[in-house]
Amino acid sequence: MIEIKDLSKEFQGVPVLRGINETIRQGEKVAIIGPSGSGKSTFLRCLNLLEKPTGGQILYKGQDITAKSTDINAVRRHVGMVFQHFNLFPHLTVRQNITLAPVQLKLQTQDEADAKAETLLRRIGLWDRADTYPSRLSGGQKQRIAIVRALSMDPEVLLFDEPTSALDPEMVGEVLDLIREVAEEGMTMVIVTHEMGFAREVATRVLFMDEGQVMEQNAPADFFAHPQNARLQAFLSKVL
Ligand code: ADP
Ligand code: MG
Repeated sequence: MIEIKDLSKEFQGVPVLRGINETIRQGEKVAIIGPSGSGKSTFLRCLNLLEKPTGGQILYKGQDITAKSTDINAVRRHVGMVFQHFNLFPHLTVRQNITLAPVQLKLQTQDEADAKAETLLRRIGLWDRADTYPSRLSGGQKQRIAIVRALSMDPEVLLFDEPTSALDPEMVGEVLDLIREVAEEGMTMVIVTHEMGFAREVATRVLFMDEGQVMEQNAPADFFAHPQNARLQAFLSKVL
């Protein structure tokens, strides 16, 4: 589904991604772990063109999305993103947050988008909050709304950047449960996370990033039981 070839990214001449080669297949759930500053967010942001790569290519279903002619909105329609800090629009209600993009991009009429928002909000038990503003919601509610907002576009891939890192501990579970459900429905996912238990349980593959490179990757059981790279061993000894 996504083929990443020798991807590099520099900020003001400072290399942050140093030649990443990866293939993400349909239905895979790829967890990315690694120390702060290793380039995890930058890598995710390149995948839906929130950052412009400095070098290399990203093929989405065979099409080079780093080419100048790429329709960035078309890419983002298929590759949704969920952020650490939710990024809900504070001046819009929950319902408006969910319906804005599909209506503005003319993917759905307002009526269709409203009906879909109702279905999604009922699913997560927050239909009664449809006309509430985000500031009135808990962190866990905000993040679950951000997830269904991404789902309202019917994406083919969802990217999650530390979706539970900004939450109070008692709200982590409800968000992970929703992500787990979406995973079980077959969504292709890439998840940057510090939740090692979740990565082990949900991911089909785990990648370790350090200094802008993928240093190691494996199926979760082997990844955690038999880490090869010394830096990964040191990292796991601190977080597990
Ligand atoms: P991670 O998500 O693994 O913590 P990031 O991808 O956020 O890492 O950052 C990797 C490196 O790139 C860091 O050194 C960070 O300071 C730098 N960086 C990220 N975004 C920018 C930016 N917009 N401008 C300059 N430097 C950036
Ligand atoms: Mg990050």
